[in-house]
Amino acid sequence: MDTFRHFIANEFVPAASGATLDVHEPATGRVYAQVSAGDARDVDAAVKAAAAAFPAWSATPVLERSRLLFRLAELIDANLERLAQAESRDCGKPISLARSVDIPRSAVNFRYFSGAVLHTTGEMHETEHPGIGAPIRAMNWTLRRPRGVTGLIAPWNLPLYLLTWKIAPALATGNTCVAKPSEVTPATATLLGELAREAGLPPGVLNIVHGAGQDCGGSIVTHPNVPAISFTGSTGVGRWIGESCGGQLKRVSLELGGKNPFIIFDDADLDDAVATALRAAFTNQGQICLCGSRLLVQRSVADRVLEAIVKGARALTPGDPSLPETRFGALVSRPHLDKVATAVEQARALGATIHCGGRSPDPASLPEQCRGGYFYVPTVLSGLDPACAVEQEEIFGPVLSVQVFDDEAHAMRLANATPYGLASVVFTRDLNRAHRAAEQIQSGIVWINCWMVRDLRTPFGGAKASGVGREGGLEALRFFTEPKNVCVKW
Ligand code: NAD
Repeated sequence: MDTFRHFIANEFVPAASGATLDVHEPATGRVYAQVSAGDARDVDAAVKAAAAAFPAWSATPVLERSRLLFRLAELIDANLERLAQAESRDCGKPISLARSVDIPRSAVNFRYFSGAVLHTTGEMHETEHPGIGAPIRAMNWTLRRPRGVTGLIAPWNLPLYLLTWKIAPALATGNTCVAKPSEVTPATATLLGELAREAGLPPGVLNIVHGAGQDCGGSIVTHPNVPAISFTGSTGVGRWIGESCGGQLKRVSLELGGKNPFIIFDDADLDDAVATALRAAFTNQGQICLCGSRLLVQRSVADRVLEAIVKGARALTPGDPSLPETRFGALVSRPHLDKVATAVEQARALGATIHCGGRSPDPASLPEQCRGGYFYVPTVLSGLDPACAVEQEEIFGPVLSVQVFDDEAHAMRLANATPYGLASVVFTRDLNRAHRAAEQIQSGIVWINCWMVRDLRTPFGGAKASGVGREGGLEALRFFTEPKNVCVKW
């Protein structure tokens, strides 16, 4: 059985307590590995290693840091198959998705930030100050320095992709880090440690600790020598981290949950809209923060769209994620499967029409080895009050709820009627309406006639309860550096 240990100062070490947690394979329900159950002692050891590495790493010429991170990207590419298998097994996601999206994107994260850090520009302002007696001319320039040991905490849905999205800019800008993957999906982060060592990252630059949320993640958040925290995960945990960091006056970036609207106007290319809406709802079994889980359709085309969506959802049959042809895998854990099933039962009790799904698959329809797995059938439902809990709270599973709207103003009201504001999609051929909607929808990203098209140079993050701060491109390079104003008289 595999054992995933902490990676501290380039060594794999067990938890100080010796304790481990079970790691389940979602496709079978079996325990396939153990992971170190880290606590405050392990976090402290990792922070000490990161602090010891910081002076030399932050003084390393940026060209050399860039070279090492680029090398790590190459090693991820070279180990694509091994990483994809590990991720598919850990998460229950189709291997095709891990191969085509998660792992390549993890390499791109390092490649992108290894390049971006070489192309930053500085800020300088020429100043004319009235002075006392005689006017003074000065130049103000902004000196940016890495913050020190950064705490990077990621969720289970895109484990390597999201963790490397934080590690890459943190290290590129000269910080060292203590990174924590979800205890539910520890495999690929552990392999990343191996590859980082092979790439030549000095000991202590990248440290990975494993363990339960509060014991391990909470210890990173409250550690006095970790001045910056970047967190991606649920809104509930993010709220606690925000409060804790506020009290400690730490820098914090929070990427949180979503309840994203996918809006189809009656002038849209309906075939494209339906195909995209199906991908947006059910990719990774609906477990992507950017998934469009609320389909808003204009009344005149609602019946047609709903029929096509239900047909498409029915065609997505759960299968063994390790097989290349599988497009729909397992949910990540038993508790998460229960959460999704409970939300659908709640919808049923509130009078929703369940058009398809609404249950786990018949075990006989699954390969024998998958009959104890955490599968749920793609579900489409309608008829709920937009204000009810099912329409307001994130489900984070393969459940698409449909609402009908009459006109643009009604669509905008529905789109903005949840506490969240991460992403949104608008399908229309009317360019003016697209721009108006983009301005009015309260979300960090608005996709017009597409979904999940990402350019890493753009700011990424959520509005309202979906987060605080932005990642991506310049935003990340700024977050991980402390600006200092230097005023020079001349
Ligand atoms: P989660 O909040 O339960 O856990 C996320 C990470 O935080 C895990 O590593 C966990 O161990 C750790 N953690 C838990 N409690 C902690 C605490 N008290 N202190 C410090 N760390 C703690 O989230 P999850 O269930 O792993 O992931 C699903 C959630 O993540 C969904 O809400 C989804 O929308 C969100 N998400 C957001 C984005 C985004 O970019 N906005 C991306 C992916 C996922």
